[in-house]
Amino acid sequence: MESPSRPTRMEINLTAIQHNIRTIQSRVGPAVEVMAVVKANGYGHGAVSVARAAIDAGATWLGVATLEEGLQLRQAGLSHPILVFGPIGRRYLGTAISQSLDMVVYDLDVLQSVSAAAERVGQPGQIHLKIDTGMGRVGLLPEWFGQDWVNHVQNPNLRWRGLMSHLADSDGPDETNTREQLRTFLDIIEKVRQWGALPRWIHLANSAAAMRYPGTWFNLVRVGIAMYGGLPYEKAQGLQPALTWRSNITHIKRVPRGFYVGYGKTYCTEQDAWIVNVPVGYADGYRRTLSNLAQVLIRGHRYPVVGRISMDQLSVAIPITDDVAIGDDVVLIGQDGDEKIRVEELANTIDTISYEIFTGISDRVPRLYGYSD
Ligand SMILES: *Cc1c(COP(=O)(O)O)cnc(C)c1O
Repeated sequence: MESPSRPTRMEINLTAIQHNIRTIQSRVGPAVEVMAVVKANGYGHGAVSVARAAIDAGATWLGVATLEEGLQLRQAGLSHPILVFGPIGRRYLGTAISQSLDMVVYDLDVLQSVSAAAERVGQPGQIHLKIDTGMGRVGLLPEWFGQDWVNHVQNPNLRWRGLMSHLADSDGPDETNTREQLRTFLDIIEKVRQWGALPRWIHLANSAAAMRYPGTWFNLVRVGIAMYGGLPYEKAQGLQPALTWRSNITHIKRVPRGFYVGYGKTYCTEQDAWIVNVPVGYADGYRRTLSNLAQVLIRGHRYPVVGRISMDQLSVAIPITDDVAIGDDVVLIGQDGDEKIRVEELANTIDTISYEIFTGISDRVPRLYGYSD
């Protein structure tokens, strides 16, 4: 449940989302289409708003993890192709088919269930066959993939729309793993070509590969983190962060040297200071492990988060010589004047990745949308 009465909010700049989609599109060129990956509520940014903005900027596909995420987009009136990456329980396959959701398949069992459900619904099931070229998670191992699979997918109840795989290390410093996966995938494609059965869509690249590895593009790239302006690899350039995570100062007190702050009394002032209270805590997704490590921006300056982060609030220490007031903006992620806190800064501080910070921002933080000009 959202709390609009509280100043903590996420501001999502849809112009930045569109800029990032266009940046990727111009990188991959007009022959390659872009799938906007909006799983997990658009990496926390709001699936429907992000999907609409991405489509308006030229994305032609949408990608989600669950059936419900796909249905949410359909209910919002989005009629573009939607690929559901994750598993869909047998009883729900008919719903997916009747809503024209594309599904990822790599088990014969599942394929047969999709076919049976499609027969019941009276509409073909749209499937993408996934090969495990080295991610080692889901997908058909190359040695399991023979011509019999072409017979399985060329079933009148099915529409074989895609051949896909997923990269394990496209964000890493070394190209070797990606090269190897690409070679394996190319072998598979060549086999299928010889069997005379290539589907319309061939796709392998995520954000990092869409920016770095042209060989992986084929005719569709699946772009998540880059669309939000997260860095898909360390040196990625040209992406604009879409998110500003903002709150306000709601309480200030002047305290002397030797004053302890918060649960466990883990922070003690070394001189007179302002201790300001900001109504955001770990229940909003501002992780408790950031306690005594993170910084925030107030009036364009960086200040430390001090003491333990609580469920609903945190404290910031400010030198007594600096001016602050109740109602001042506090930027947790985003830009303020010349200072900037990227999501990667928070993620690196607590040894995680931008994806986890984004998707951890909880539902009670209202999402506000705008265009920057
Ligand atoms: C999440 C996901 C993506 C997007 O990955 P990014 O690194 O965010 O671009 C692409 N493909 C699949 C199968 C995914 O699950």
